[in-house]
Amino acid sequence: MASHGNKSEEEAAITEAPNTPISTIVIIVAMQTEALPLVNRFQLTEDLDSVFPEGVPWVRYRGVYKDLNINLIWPGKDSILGVDSVGTISASLVTYASIQALKPDLIINAGTAGAFKAKGAVIGDVFLAADCAFHDRRIPIPVFDMYGVGLRQAHSTPNLVKELNLKVGKLSTGDSLDMSPHDESSITANDATVKDMEGAAVAYVADLLKVPAIFVKAVTDIVDGEKPTAEEFLQNLAAVTAALDNTVTQIIDFINGKCISEL
Ligand code: SAH
Repeated sequence: MASHGNKSEEEAAITEAPNTPISTIVIIVAMQTEALPLVNRFQLTEDLDSVFPEGVPWVRYRGVYKDLNINLIWPGKDSILGVDSVGTISASLVTYASIQALKPDLIINAGTAGAFKAKGAVIGDVFLAADCAFHDRRIPIPVFDMYGVGLRQAHSTPNLVKELNLKVGKLSTGDSLDMSPHDESSITANDATVKDMEGAAVAYVADLLKVPAIFVKAVTDIVDGEKPTAEEFLQNLAAVTAALDNTVTQIIDFINGKCISEL
C-alpha cells in the first residue's frame, strides 16, 4: 500500500507491516441492543472526549482486552426521532470517521440480519460474510449496473472459519427492512444467504481506505419464511444478540496475538 499524507516512511513501515500482530480493532454495530452486551463483555467505557465531530450522535466505547485495543462504534440515536441510526448512510459515515481517527488494523461489522431458509439458514445462526453487495441500487446502464451492486470481498479468514466452525454466506445490503420484489430479484442475483442494512456500506469504505474488514451477522428473521419480518425480528432480537455476542467474543479471542495474514 502506498504511504500517504505526511507520515514518514519509517512510521508507515511500522503501521503497515503485515507481520505485526493486530493491535487496534474497530467494531461497527448499528443498534444499541446489539452493542450493549459487547460493551459489558469487554468492559468497554464510553469515550466522553469524542474523536468525532461535535454534536453527532455517534458513540465510541473503548477498552483494552488482552493485547487488543477495542473500539466499538455505534452510530447512536437519530437526533430527531430517537431511534437507532440504522442503514447505509450512518454506517458509512461512522466507518469513515473511525478509520480516520483510530487507524484500525481490522474492522468487524457485527449485527443482526435476515436470512434465507432456502440457503440453509435458521434463526440464531451466525454467519461470516464471504462478500457484500447492494440490492437496492439499480442503475440499468452498462457498468453503472455493476457499480450499483458494489460487490466487495470480505477479508479472507480461512483459519478463523475453520477454528470456529462458522457458517459462511454472501451478504446483501439495502436500506429497507422489508423486501420488495425488485430487491428480491437483486438479492437472488447476488446469491445472498444473509440480508442486512449496513454491511456493503462498511465494506465500501473499508475497501476505499484499504482496511481489512469482516462481517459477522446473526439471523433474527427468515426472509423466505411465513412470519412478517418486523415481528420476527423483534421477537428474536434479544436471544440472537446473545449468540452474536458469543461469536464476536470467540472471534476476538482468536484474533488476539495474530497478524492479519494469519486469520
Ligand atoms: N424495528 C427495529 C428496526 C431495526 S432495523 C427497531 O425497532 O429498532 C433492522 C436492523 O437489523 C438493521 O441494522 C439491519 O442490519 C438488521 N436486520 C435484521 N433483519 C433484517 C432484514 N430482514 N433485512 C434487513 N436488515 C435486517
